[in-house]
Amino acid sequence: MARVFVITGPSGVGKGTLIRGLMERQPSLELSVSATTRDPRPGERDGVDYHFLTREDFDCRVREGEFVEHADYAGRSYGTLRSELEQRVREGVPVVLEIEVQGARQVRAAMPEAVQVFIAPPSLAALRTRLIGRGTDDATEVERRLGVAEGELAAQPEFRHVVVNDRLDEALARLSEIVAAELGEVAP
Ligand code: 5GP
Repeated sequence: MARVFVITGPSGVGKGTLIRGLMERQPSLELSVSATTRDPRPGERDGVDYHFLTREDFDCRVREGEFVEHADYAGRSYGTLRSELEQRVREGVPVVLEIEVQGARQVRAAMPEAVQVFIAPPSLAALRTRLIGRGTDDATEVERRLGVAEGELAAQPEFRHVVVNDRLDEALARLSEIVAAELGEVAP
């Protein structure tokens, strides 16, 4: 039975919003809290939104083999700590990873049984509008993320499940269906 769910896709596509909705519908799911070297945004809490690490701490943990996957994204490092996954997997608790595409590839290689879902925007123009609209990144950072997104969108065919996030309610219903089917349940 599938117990690890990887939700990937470009920044700004709505992965976080979809995952919040998914977890309301499927309360047995737990979210893996990633580590990152980027600075917290206003309102983000250490240990809740991310484990915010210094560059030295992150690199040291890479050397110690503490990450299941890690990647550089837009000039910062992000990674999934083994400690977020191992106990849950042992106990059969289903866990959700929200990660970018390079990390998803590493998880695919290390855990081929993990279920991977690529969230796609209706268009690159729509992604730009959303990245600007959410107001978390300045113009330079938005352009940087859009540049990365082009390459990420080209990776779509690698994924068995692709959900286009055009209308949020429809995308959430589709994502819930995929997850419920993998958990052997009917979507709530
Ligand atoms: P943000 O800075 O917007 O929080 O995240 C930037 C990108 O890094 C997003 O696409 C996000 O999904 C991804 N990301 C977050 N955590 C991880 C992680 O643990 N590993 C990888 N590979 N990517 C991550």
